[in-house]
Amino acid sequence: MASVLLIAQHLGGELNSSTSKAMACAKAIGDVTVAVFAESGQAVADAAATLEGASKVVLVDRAENAEPVAAILAPQIAKLAQDLGVSHVVGPNTTFGKDLMPRVAALLDSVMVTDIMSVEGPYSFQRPIYAGNAIVSVDAPQDGILVGSARTASFKAVGEQSACPVEAVTVDAELPTHTRFVKREGAGGDRPDLQSAPKVVSGGRGVGSEENFEIIYRMADKIGAAVGASRAAVDSGFCANDMQVGQTGKVIAPELYMCFGISGAIQHLAGIKDAGCIVAVNKDEEASIFEVADIGLVGDLFEVIPELESKL
Ligand code: FAD
Repeated sequence: MASVLLIAQHLGGELNSSTSKAMACAKAIGDVTVAVFAESGQAVADAAATLEGASKVVLVDRAENAEPVAAILAPQIAKLAQDLGVSHVVGPNTTFGKDLMPRVAALLDSVMVTDIMSVEGPYSFQRPIYAGNAIVSVDAPQDGILVGSARTASFKAVGEQSACPVEAVTVDAELPTHTRFVKREGAGGDRPDLQSAPKVVSGGRGVGSEENFEIIYRMADKIGAAVGASRAAVDSGFCANDMQVGQTGKVIAPELYMCFGISGAIQHLAGIKDAGCIVAVNKDEEASIFEVADIGLVGDLFEVIPELESKL
């Protein structure tokens, strides 16, 4: 049977929901050991132990793991995977996983399958190509340790189980000195995390300016949503680029996605195709966003948002 080392994503002592979604992918491949790399990660490891499908959790506490720096984590993951003799290493295809997992594959000199949408067998997967316009089935080679990243928008979080054993381990890996953590800067402030939030409010080029983007933040705060943006909004300097949703931004699957002044380019849609309910406000009734929207409103966002706010 295939054995999977699942890399937990966590921050601030809390397990990120992407770990639970990646678990759904990992447990479809084989028996799962969850790895938690932290400085003091007992609480995270205990939470991981209750994820349905976890056979064991290994906790690698080390001062260098205080922040999730890919260059520091990757050699430890590669060594741990070899020590445990697993057949697969899986992580979430979030910003964290996109940075980390290819480094692990490179260090293991092995093959990587990115953006796994479904598992057809331990070495057979489906993944999107052409910005999600086509889905391809891929067969990975069966020699070496296969590294994979799970498209979190395609997997539902697993349920809970009674806790499996947690074991503290040390990993004898040489860590690089060329990369160190300096500081964390996030544009979202106290708002929910864009990649895991159940509600997201996004603004596009139609918002017009950085100052005008305030109206998008206000709308989001009104309903407790994360804030996203189109690439045109990011490239125009209206907001930070970690807010970009789409093919070259974040792929998200919120229950509610509200977008204002976004035309619905194919590359933007690639990031929201798994969203539950899509609400679009655009003043152009021909905008292609209306082809995918569950609820569409032709109107000026600067009139619609204040009206929505007053009604909410
Ligand atoms: P526009 O297409 O300019 O649309 C603005 C919309 O706002 C229009 O429909 C207009 O009618 C409407 N509008 C204007 N004023 C108002 C108003 N007052 N009220 C209501 N509506 C109004 N894009 C992404 O978003 N994410 C990606 O990850 C991404 N990756 C890309 C990768 C590649 C390789 C390439 C080539 C492109 C990528 N793009 C991506 C860019 C994409 O093709 C579009 O250019 C971009 O999505 C357009 O953003 P937009 O809808 O905000 O702007």
